[in-house]
Amino acid sequence: MQNSIQSYYNKRRLTLITLVYWFLLVYIVAALIWWFIALGNQNKQMFTYRLNQLKQTSSLTTYNLSLIEDERKRKISQYVGEGVTFLLIIILGAVFVYRSVRKQIYLSQQQQNFMMAVTHEFKTPIAVINLSLETLQKRKLDIEQQHKIIEHSLQEVTRLNTLTNNILVTSQLESGNYTISKEQIDFSDLIQQEIKQFSNRYLWRIINTDIQPGIATTGEQLLLQLLFSNLLDNALKYSAEDKAVQVILKIKQRTIILQVIDDGEGIDANEKKRIFDKFYRTGNEVTRKTQGTGLGLYLCKRIIKDHEGRIWVESNKPHGTIFTVVLHAA
Ligand code: ADP
Repeated sequence: MQNSIQSYYNKRRLTLITLVYWFLLVYIVAALIWWFIALGNQNKQMFTYRLNQLKQTSSLTTYNLSLIEDERKRKISQYVGEGVTFLLIIILGAVFVYRSVRKQIYLSQQQQNFMMAVTHEFKTPIAVINLSLETLQKRKLDIEQQHKIIEHSLQEVTRLNTLTNNILVTSQLESGNYTISKEQIDFSDLIQQEIKQFSNRYLWRIINTDIQPGIATTGEQLLLQLLFSNLLDNALKYSAEDKAVQVILKIKQRTIILQVIDDGEGIDANEKKRIFDKFYRTGNEVTRKTQGTGLGLYLCKRIIKDHEGRIWVESNKPHGTIFTVVLHAA
């Protein structure tokens, strides 16, 4: 409900801004044309005035006539030159303003979506943990039930942790004050540890692995962990519970190749480029079923850029997605 009201107001705002923009643009161009016509008339009047003056003073020679005729032509070329330059500047400025305003509105819409998503993302695990703790406090449960509740709460704590890390690291990386440490990391070990944690959290999911041991890279442990956990989390989140997810890590001529492959719903070709944008989520806020903030892949891209690597997405066959990350070996 709140979403649809918000998007209604956003649309109205956008229509109003577009109307004002077109009105101003048409007004400026009309003023320019008016200015051009007025100057042309003035030039003509000047020419007639000078011609009459020459006639009155009886000095209308061919030479004098060609002088005032040249002056008239020169003025016309000057007005045409100035007019065309102004028109070009106005058109360029108009295109620039139009694109900037649209980009700004798009970003602010995405930010609103993000704020709503993030509030929801924070509230749900907190409510679950709260309820679990209250249950443990008030009811006498057997050990197995207690374990289940604790395990469930721990999963929610991990979700909260990833979410907070995503937000914190994004703002730190964007502030420009963050210097990435370049320590040597056993990347194979890092990936295996993360998979272990995910397997403990998602006991019912199948994660197939093909990990070459002993692959080392240089970079920051926390950031590389965040990169991989976002990719794996997405693969699990956007594929059905009975579908396996595959992780491949190998090295080819000093280039590390990491692939996270799922058999899920896949990503439309026209959305593939945009999923790495900040706050971008496919589908719309009302119909979307999965939780998320649209920060994960944006952060992955930033982390990869800071580690001088590459990341891209392809479709898996017959369905699903393959995310590939390429990094330099240490
Ligand atoms: P979110 O918090 O929404 O998951 P991300 O930045 O991680 O944000 O991903 C952006 C969007 O890309 C997601 O909303 C989802 O629509 C799409 N996406 C990411 N990974 C996958 C995947 N493995 N399969 C299908 N869609 C994906």
